[in-house]
Amino acid sequence: MLAQRTSLFGLSGTAAARAAAKVAADAGKEIIDLTAGEIWSELAPTIREGAIDAINKGVNRYTDTVGMIELREALARKVSLDTGDTWTAEEVAVTSGAKQALFNAAMVLLNPGDEVIIPAPYWTTFPAQVLIAGGRPVFVDSRSNGYVARIEQIKGAVTERTRAIVVNTPSNPAGAVYDVQTLMAIAQLAINRSLWIIFDECYGDFVHGHHAHHPIVSVAPEVRARTLIVNTFSKSLALTGWRIGYLAGPKEVISAVKALQSHTSSNPNVIAQHAVLAHLQRGDGVYESKLRSRLANARRLGLNVLSSLTRIRVPQAQGGFYFYLDLSDLLRRKLEDGASTTADDIANTLLAEAGVAAVSGTAFGDPVGLRLSYGIPPDKLETGLSRLVELLNAWE
Ligand code: PLP
Repeated sequence: MLAQRTSLFGLSGTAAARAAAKVAADAGKEIIDLTAGEIWSELAPTIREGAIDAINKGVNRYTDTVGMIELREALARKVSLDTGDTWTAEEVAVTSGAKQALFNAAMVLLNPGDEVIIPAPYWTTFPAQVLIAGGRPVFVDSRSNGYVARIEQIKGAVTERTRAIVVNTPSNPAGAVYDVQTLMAIAQLAINRSLWIIFDECYGDFVHGHHAHHPIVSVAPEVRARTLIVNTFSKSLALTGWRIGYLAGPKEVISAVKALQSHTSSNPNVIAQHAVLAHLQRGDGVYESKLRSRLANARRLGLNVLSSLTRIRVPQAQGGFYFYLDLSDLLRRKLEDGASTTADDIANTLLAEAGVAAVSGTAFGDPVGLRLSYGIPPDKLETGLSRLVELLNAWE
């Protein structure tokens, strides 16, 4: 009844985990939800004012397909600051969240059968979109190297059909931050083999400890012509529902994206565009630093609770707002007993017995991982993680 392409994708694993948590909560269970890919926060004042001003002015019309020129100019200034190079409005498209930026990129870059290298564990939408666009995801396992793909592995995965490499730093789900050497080596590989780099830096504002976020174009300016930068305000301004992201790249790509978007969604919501523009023009950075310190506190609190785990290593959580647990030792023991268990079973048991919702690594191509978001209020975080520690320490 449906098109064949519907067999290429299902409901995203994170959305499915969120839905399972909601079903349990609706059934009257008290659930602590650690599945969210978003941060609990109030609205930034500049966003609120920008939106209200636009409504009061009666703003109601289409804008340019890839966003208002003033917003694209403001974003070009932001990308220039981020990368240390000059960008113009023609090199930026405003999209309905980073998800649309990535989808646009896949649709305008990939021919049928083109391969895209994706380090695993990966954010579940990367391979889904490559498949929808007719491409073929090729995974490289980053688990043995602290969830940062080694350059040798990436090189080993390149074939005649390779068209692009996805670099997501800090990464979802593992929160791994790519180092300068690896980024430089990936850039060199892209240049040598004429590949595109899809550089997803949606969590770039959240790096912890001694880690720093490095936009690939800032460490290897020569790769700019082969790079598409993907970013969003969903995370940096806790604005997931407003759907404003952007794609920055060569003009020809942005022109193709504009044509594509003119036949799909047209411009992103005009009120949200005005709100983000107001923030970019008038924001003083106070909101962002509050958000960062809130997350730093949540991370500290969470790592403290997780340090009581007796059979699982405490996660590094270098960036983003996720704790990513490696359950392989726990599951191996179980396998030796002849039972086959995956992180799915652990996530299901966690929800059923401890009322804690987490996302199984199966959603990220890693059946022994478990993702826990710490973008939630501290009291809930502490309770949820304490219950999780109790359950995992007693896991038979
Ligand atoms: N890229 C990564 C790595 C993400 O984790 C997410 C959201 O979770 C996105 C892109 C999409 O963000 P947006 O809400 O802007 O579509």
